[in-house]
Order: sequence, then structure tokens, then C-alpha cells
Amino acid sequence: MKTKSVKLYLILLLTFTFCNKDSSVEKNQIDETDNYTFEDLGSDAPYTYGKSYYGRNAYTTYYPGNIPIILSIPHGGDITPSEISNRTYGVTVTDSNTIELGMAISNYLFSNYNIRPYVIINNLKRTKLDANRDKTEAAQGNIFAERAFDEFHYYISSARDEIIKNFNTGLLFDIHGHGANPDGFVDLRTWIGYLLTGSELDSSDAYIDQNINIDETSIYSIINSSDESLSNLIRGPNSLGSIFERNDYTALPSLDSPGPQGMRYFSGGFNTFIYGTNKNFNFSAIQLEFPYPGLRDTSSSRNLFAIAFSEIIHEYFLYHYDIDLFSL
Ligand SMILES: [Zn+2]
Repeated sequence: MKTKSVKLYLILLLTFTFCNKDSSVEKNQIDETDNYTFEDLGSDAPYTYGKSYYGRNAYTTYYPGNIPIILSIPHGGDITPSEISNRTYGVTVTDSNTIELGMAISNYLFSNYNIRPYVIINNLKRTKLDANRDKTEAAQGNIFAERAFDEFHYYISSARDEIIKNFNTGLLFDIHGHGANPDGFVDLRTWIGYLLTGSELDSSDAYIDQNINIDETSIYSIINSSDESLSNLIRGPNSLGSIFERNDYTALPSLDSPGPQGMRYFSGGFNTFIYGTNKNFNFSAIQLEFPYPGLRDTSSSRNLFAIAFSEIIHEYFLYHYDIDLFSL
């Protein structure tokens, strides 16, 4: 018993000493954090097509492009640096293989048409940064995560500004992946998000055209320059979803799948909102939630989809922007 008490005393003493030491280290770290200064955003500019930019500690990757399309990839990262503590609330699931999917698309376009979209990737795991939420929820107070958030958006904004300068208009695709629904059902359709909710999509065309303000959608800049109704633009014959289906990939909304019929569906998040609804820019945004099986699960799935997606965006831009991506 006596030995046990001595041991306990020693453990307590050590713990006390360790804790004291630990808290002084922690205090120093907090002081250093308080005084931490970052380089000005954009100090790595100018951004040149063919080069790559990585932000602080390579938490972000930016590949400048040469067509009026941005692919932003917020949820595919896997870096878990110790300087960023884990987020304590919100979703933390990784969208597997979405970086690989984005790169497969970019590489296919480059190999076959000598063009590349602008690609901006968040390399941090979603447990450290959610680059599709507002800054508070995204970084949860960690200054290094906040810096990565700022760089991610600085690169996207730079890409958007350059696209508008060169093409007058453009489109951001925010790339995601959806898993099994809560009931276990695996929906093999790509969910296309224009900020219309599932229940709005489950309404009639007449309801949508009469009751939904186009300013609240993420494609107001496309609608503004189109003769088509909103319902036609999101699920008519030349909607993005219907073009997906003509290229053998099912999608929602589309002619065949006008609405989710009460099932799970993601209508578009922070990035789609920020880049699709800002009236200061003639620019639209669409969220793409890709299924896993047969589309992003293997490199051959991704390479096959890259071929189809190139045709899809080619057709979409010809029809809605009068721009031939393959002849730029
Ligand atoms: Zn996601």
C-alpha cells in the first residue's frame, strides 16, 4: 500500500509538473499565433497558365486555365497538419477521389484540345477545413485554416476576374461526391445544384417559373442572357442534366429526373452561392455531386467520365454561351 501511495504521489507530481510545463508551452504557442503574420494574399501573383501555385504550406493548389470554366474542389483533401486542430462541429466526410476526378477532366481536355479549366483544390482534410462553408464554420477559429480558406477563395476570385476579362462571362463547377443516402440507397445520378431546393424541384414547371426569383438561383447570369424559362434551363432538353443523360450519365434535375421526389438531394452550398449569386459579376456557379460507383471509384471510371464531361461542357457552352470550347 505504501509503495502504491508513493507511486501515486510521484504520478501526481509528474502530472502537475508536466501540465505546468505544457501550459507554458501552450501559452507561448498562443502568443506566437497572436503575432503570426502572413504574406499579403496575391504575393505569389501573377498567375500564369501552365504553372502551379500552392499557397502557404501547400494547403491549396491553383492551376490557372485558359477557358471560361473553374473547377473548385473543396472536399477531396487529405492533409492533416498538427498546427490545425480538428474542427469540432459540422460535416467532416471526405468526397473521395474528387481531386483525381477534376485532374482527369483537366488532363483529358489538355491532351485532346489543348485547353484547361482553372482548377482550385483544397488539400486539407475536411476535419481541418471545410472549404464549402462560411469562414467561421469552415476554419473554426484556427488562423492557419483561415489562411488556407482565404487563399482558396483568393485563387478562385483571381480566376473568375481573369475569365471575365477574357470572355466576359464564365461558370464555376463546385465538385463534390455523394455517398449512400441515409436509407442505404445509392443514387447513381449526378445531383446538379442551382440553389433550388428538392421540394422546389418537385414542383411543377409553372410553379417554378412563377414563384422562384431567378436572382436566387446560381445561374442568374445564364438566365439573363437566355430566352428560356428557368424550368427549361434546369430540366429542359438543353439543361445540363439532360446533356449529361444524352452522354449516358444520369443526372438530377433533367428531362428524365425533374425532381428528387422527396429523396435526399443537395441543392448547392456556400461556394455555389458566393460565386453564382453575386450581381457584381457576370458569372454563374453550379454544384456537381457525383456518385461514387462507375464514375469516380477507379481511374478507368474517371477517365471515361472525363471524356463524357468534355462533350457535356462543350455542348452546354455552345448552346448557352455561344462559345465553342474546343476552338478557343
Ligand atoms: Zn462535398
